[in-house]
Amino acid sequence: MNFLEERIVRDGVVKEGNVLKVDSFLNHQMDIGLLNEMGAEFKRRFAGKPINKILTIEASGIGIACIAAQHFNVPVVFAKKSQSINLDGEMYVAEVESFTHKCINHVIVAKKFLTPEDHVLIIDDFLANGCALQGLIQIVQSAGATVEGIGIAIEKGFQSGGRIIRNLGFQLESLAIVDGMDAATGHIEFRPQKDSRQNGKKDKTADSVLKPEECVCRSSTLD
Ligand code: 5GP
Repeated sequence: MNFLEERIVRDGVVKEGNVLKVDSFLNHQMDIGLLNEMGAEFKRRFAGKPINKILTIEASGIGIACIAAQHFNVPVVFAKKSQSINLDGEMYVAEVESFTHKCINHVIVAKKFLTPEDHVLIIDDFLANGCALQGLIQIVQSAGATVEGIGIAIEKGFQSGGRIIRNLGFQLESLAIVDGMDAATGHIEFRPQKDSRQNGKKDKTADSVLKPEECVCRSSTLD
């Protein structure tokens, strides 16, 4: 087990409905030493990529992205969530469905903070169905910028987001991939981590490449 998997086993709580609570160290109270170790690991996994900006989404991604940014020495932009439809034209907007709040959030980034010259690393705390991530990818692509990679703290591998994003050809690096969890026993099953040099290649078990719009997203925010 790596350092994050060990911490999840120690302090994570498996809830009914396939929800993993990690609020004692990751997305409510934050263990900065752990976040720093995660930042160093993202830097190692994306070594050699010409990353000049990190993009994340409020609220839980911000702390992780900011600590990681110190390892890359680049600024962080976070996408704002709003249910308002009164949006001014100088922004990139994507729609992200929130399963928990039963609403559509508009995910917004000001145009001045993303340009075609940007080489972006997207960072977030969780990947489940991939809805939040697809909104961020859409925004980067609308700006004509390049997605250099995606760094996730915890991927729930039994949900579809990871497969969809890898099949789109992105280098997706999840520090812990949970392949199964049981709320009754608290047991958490992790996917053995491949050598990170193999990541970014397409998942050979998947039979087709899905386009973002083909994905039915079911969750976006639990924070
Ligand atoms: P997705 O859009 O990939 O379906 O969901 C990603 C977002 O949902 C994350 O940014 C995170 O806030 C939230 N999320 C999804 N699953 C979980 C979970 O098991 N635990 C927590 N704490 N948040 C989750």
